[in-house]
Amino acid sequence: MESAVNAGYLSPMSGYSAVPSVDGGGRTRAAARGRRAAEALAASPPVAATPRSPTRALTTAPTPSVVSAAPGDERSPGRAGPTAAASARDTRMDVADSEEPDVDINEDDEDEDASDSDASNDLSWISWFCSLNGNEFFCEVDEDFIQDDFNLTGLSSQVTYYEYALDMILDVDVPDTEMDERQHELVELSAECLYGLIHARYILTNRGLHDMLEKFNNVDFGRCPRVYCSGQPVLPVGQSDVPRHSTVKLFCPRCWDIYFPRSVAHSHLDGAYWGTTFPHLFLHTYPELVPERNPERYVPRIFGFKISDKSKQVQRNSGLSRRGDARGEDMDAR
Ligand SMILES: [Zn+2]
Repeated sequence: MESAVNAGYLSPMSGYSAVPSVDGGGRTRAAARGRRAAEALAASPPVAATPRSPTRALTTAPTPSVVSAAPGDERSPGRAGPTAAASARDTRMDVADSEEPDVDINEDDEDEDASDSDASNDLSWISWFCSLNGNEFFCEVDEDFIQDDFNLTGLSSQVTYYEYALDMILDVDVPDTEMDERQHELVELSAECLYGLIHARYILTNRGLHDMLEKFNNVDFGRCPRVYCSGQPVLPVGQSDVPRHSTVKLFCPRCWDIYFPRSVAHSHLDGAYWGTTFPHLFLHTYPELVPERNPERYVPRIFGFKISDKSKQVQRNSGLSRRGDARGEDMDAR
């Protein structure tokens, strides 16, 4: 997720094209897609779908590859049709012919690729994404929620390659002739950002709150590191609802404070993917989960003695206990 989120922090104009490649280990299905592109093309023509508007065309020029359309084949607003597929197939056959001596090795590779992609294709994109290491704080957004345009209002201006990213999230197959591996990776990064922003909205719905309740009960978000919170399960929260402002934090409903996630894998997640409202609406919805306040407070001592009120460290932190008391009163007042 690190590189994915980092990419999200970059503006489309400056850094997006210079994004470091997604780290390996099967974190992106783009590579698998690229590898199996030729097979997919040969097996079946692209699925017909609604015409793509010119704004959807990727700005990055496709690099020459085995599966890219022939040079001079102008990218039309419509999806690449059978002609492009056929030309790509021809190109592929030419390449295959010219590399005939290596056929045995290639077949081995293809077998491995096939098993790789089979494994990732069995899952929906959403399930796959949520199952990635580091994405444990995400719940699986209902596809019906995503398919309702009303729920996505305003997101198209926040995400580059919005339409492609949405297609990817919903497992709509985009013919591999339309983009090369590099572009697939960029769309994949946009899809992650788009999914995060949709996720922030979804978890405020009844269904989303219920999904997050299951994760809370499983302690998927971790526990409060504060000793006197006694392992209280925490909830993810953003310090801003605007993406690329701050990373996700963890809110403890017992001490009413926020903490950095303990795992490095979570420390780069964008806080806007959970937003500022979620944990508080969650506890409002499930008041039985609001824990009792623990009145115990840590008392600093030197050689067993309480530190004098005249000490600088007590004077400078005297506000802490007062704030703590006020916070407790606030909590009681709820
Ligand atoms: Zn706590």
